[in-house]
Amino acid sequence: SSLSTCPPDVDQLGRSTWTLLHSITGAYPASPSPTLQSETSTFIRTFAKLYPCWVCADDFQAWMRRPGNAPRVSSRDEFGRWMCDAHNAVNEKLGKERFDCARWEERWRTGWRDGSCD
Ligand code: FAD
Repeated sequence: SSLSTCPPDVDQLGRSTWTLLHSITGAYPASPSPTLQSETSTFIRTFAKLYPCWVCADDFQAWMRRPGNAPRVSSRDEFGRWMCDAHNAVNEKLGKERFDCARWEERWRTGWRDGSCD
């Protein structure tokens, strides 16, 4: 049951991982140093190799190799939108609804404009 402590399945792992990844973009600087940008890009590529769902990892790496899909880490907004695009690519593959990336920051950083998170 959900009360027991078992290894995570693909869905639990995914929800926890997206929470961490989007939260990282929310805490990312608006103007990151060149060093941080290059470390962040390396982090994402290494993450994509180590993600412990092998089909997920392979498909995610293949998606990142496609034109225009390399990690965009030049600012918080760029990185947050890139992560949202990456998540939408997985949503699409799984037949889930697309998320409106204009609202990534409300979902993961500031809370919704209507104050429902306050
Ligand atoms: P999740 O997709 O986990 O989303 C959690 C919450 O994030 C949502 O409730 C919503 O509020 C918000 N959200 C949704 N879309 C976005 C977005 N685009 N931007 C910002 N916020 C958003 N599962 C598989 O079965 N096969 C795979 O190949 C696969 N590949 C994955 C690859 C990666 C890199 C990761 C991190 C996960 C992968 N998953 C895969 C897991 C999958 O993405 C979901 O996490 C899982 O199916 C649970 O889905 P969910 O409906 O609970 O919501």
